[in-house]
Amino acid sequence: MASCSTLKIVDSNAAMNAGAAAVQALTISDAQVAELCSQYMVETDGQNTILPADNSYTQRLNRIMARFHNISNLNLNYKVYQSSTVNAFASGDGSIRIYSGLMDVMNDDELFAVIGHELGHLINKDVRDAYRNAYLIVAARYGIAAVNTTAGAISTGFLGDLGQELANNAFSRKQEYEADAASFQFCVQNGVDPYAMYHALNRLMGLSGDSSMKGRLAELLQTHPYTEKRAARIKEMCEAAGYSMTAPKTNSTGSGNTNTVSPKTNGGSNNSGTGTKPKKTVSTKKG
Ligand SMILES: [Zn+2]
Repeated sequence: MASCSTLKIVDSNAAMNAGAAAVQALTISDAQVAELCSQYMVETDGQNTILPADNSYTQRLNRIMARFHNISNLNLNYKVYQSSTVNAFASGDGSIRIYSGLMDVMNDDELFAVIGHELGHLINKDVRDAYRNAYLIVAARYGIAAVNTTAGAISTGFLGDLGQELANNAFSRKQEYEADAASFQFCVQNGVDPYAMYHALNRLMGLSGDSSMKGRLAELLQTHPYTEKRAARIKEMCEAAGYSMTAPKTNSTGSGNTNTVSPKTNGGSNNSGTGTKPKKTVSTKKG
């Protein structure tokens, strides 16, 4: 599926460079990339079972992301794919897709953090760049001499190859760190547990040891100890901002979780934090 995969962390510089060399003659504008993303999503949505608006998963997702309908001048649209796969992704047209399998293993704060990570990739233009690179690589393979991404101009086969290319070219380590930093900032700004992404990554690492989860976590299993490094960095971010470690909440599948977090006591235990601390933010580096 699309290249983020919160869970998939493979350095793809070699593949990117090979592709870039092959297609340097073609250029594709931001507007064309946006068109491309829209068409890719029509195709991808058509291949998945989208849960209806009145489904409890959809309602839960809408509740968790209620305040995020527009970001970086992009209108976001959220849908849940009915699938045991544990993953989520964002497309450059503002489509955010969450697999119900991810929702089954995450609590509301963790889901917010994981989706915030995807939104970070959007804000940082990682998604745009990934689609652009994938398009150019596939276009070179198809011998396409002029970019045309208007509706109907791209074949189903091309879009299938594009999806494969996106899946093969994960974001870089640096992009993942920056998306994690954006997620942390979203959490802090929205009263969500700053440690939510830390807990989410730890939960995924824990699940990866369960043989019955192998298929569902196939993408995660491609990865390496790097997830642990991301978790460690998020923990450092939280500590630098003065937040005490929280205990991971149990997963509330469906309802009940209020998606809020008590202000943390500084340096104390993590039970019923009654003290407040000034909110700090961590800048999302881009470069
Ligand atoms: Zn990511």
